[in-house]
Amino acid sequence: MSDRLVYLDHAASTPMRPEAVEAMSPFLTGTYANPSGSHRFARRARRAVDESRDRVAAVLGCHPNEIVFTGCGTESDNMAVVGAVTRARSAGRDAIAVCPAAEHHAVLEPVEHLGGVVVDVDRTGRVDHDALADALDTAAAAGRSVAVVSVMAVNNEVGTVTDLAPVGDIVRRLAPDAVLHTDAVQAASWLDLREITPHVDLLALSAHKFGGPKGVGVLMERGGPRVDPLIIGGGQERERRSGTHNVAGIVAMAEALALTDAERESETERLTALRNRLVGGLVQRLDGVTETVRREHKVAGSAHVCIDGVESEALLFLLDEASVCASAASACASGAMEPSHVLAAMGVPRERALGALRLSLGHATTADDVEQGLSAIVDAVTRLRLNWGQTPVDTEAGRPGTKVT
Ligand code: PLP
Repeated sequence: MSDRLVYLDHAASTPMRPEAVEAMSPFLTGTYANPSGSHRFARRARRAVDESRDRVAAVLGCHPNEIVFTGCGTESDNMAVVGAVTRARSAGRDAIAVCPAAEHHAVLEPVEHLGGVVVDVDRTGRVDHDALADALDTAAAAGRSVAVVSVMAVNNEVGTVTDLAPVGDIVRRLAPDAVLHTDAVQAASWLDLREITPHVDLLALSAHKFGGPKGVGVLMERGGPRVDPLIIGGGQERERRSGTHNVAGIVAMAEALALTDAERESETERLTALRNRLVGGLVQRLDGVTETVRREHKVAGSAHVCIDGVESEALLFLLDEASVCASAASACASGAMEPSHVLAAMGVPRERALGALRLSLGHATTADDVEQGLSAIVDAVTRLRLNWGQTPVDTEAGRPGTKVT
């Protein structure tokens, strides 16, 4: 077992940037006041929150008043979907939510919970424009009002980028009362968010995906309140999200986002080369490796392959033993492994999808990580193929299914 950890799971969570850790520490012990207070100490904390809001707004290309600080990406997505439907229903509309089948569970589950409509995606995982248009037409014909359409900017499993401009056109044309939300949680490290915000009404971010801390996120609401708040009580965030601000987390998130934005171009170039080396090496050194989505459709940090003749959970077990962190999604249904909902929606055949492997790179990834990861994967796959039928299954990383976040 190797001691050096090779972390190829940045889409699940990234290490905090040292600058973000440094930025947050004065607010953990020194300026610990509640920013809602009226004394000078509280005002100092409030100023830090306001300055962070300005920094986040600058990266999103929106007004600071359009930023709502939340507790995580899941909360931002829930607020967008649940808040839009609740707001429309309280106005007397027979309202529903619509989303594509490859969304993260943070969107998919609230949409389904509220009796919404889930539409097809294409083979890359992008929303099918005709299916979306049909769903909006059908809702209108049935006298139902679509309150929100939620379409992710970058898929968390396979890394596919969706162009939101044409999606926005479809929504404006066929469901003019709907708001368009995008889960941009996986986009912040790779795409210029200023180019996305003009096409959407709502946008969700999560700090721990770009070098900030866990437990803090953003919902951008373009043009002022578009949804009902999810958490009510103390009236913080101009009544949009109650609860005492996580001042240190907000300050660190703003620092991490500003750095990510400043380094995006050079990091994209660096990590595209490393990702290509990783995936190219796998394809070259192993038979039966299929790239799930072609690289030109994907963000730089994403590598997703399906490997014939191995099961993901056995592979993850061996990689874990070799100190390589990677992931794959599957669910245990009636004792049998089922592939992830994303791969199923994309039409990836079940046998192929059971050998899925997600490798995701980020700001801390080095060329050594890639070389070591590549060798470990080649070794593990070779071992599994030699011992086919005797693979380890009862592992922490394995049953009852592995989740991709
Ligand atoms: N949306 C996407 C696309 C994600 O990848 C994640 C990560 O798990 C989330 C939402 C949820 O974010 P959080 O972990 O901050 O709740």
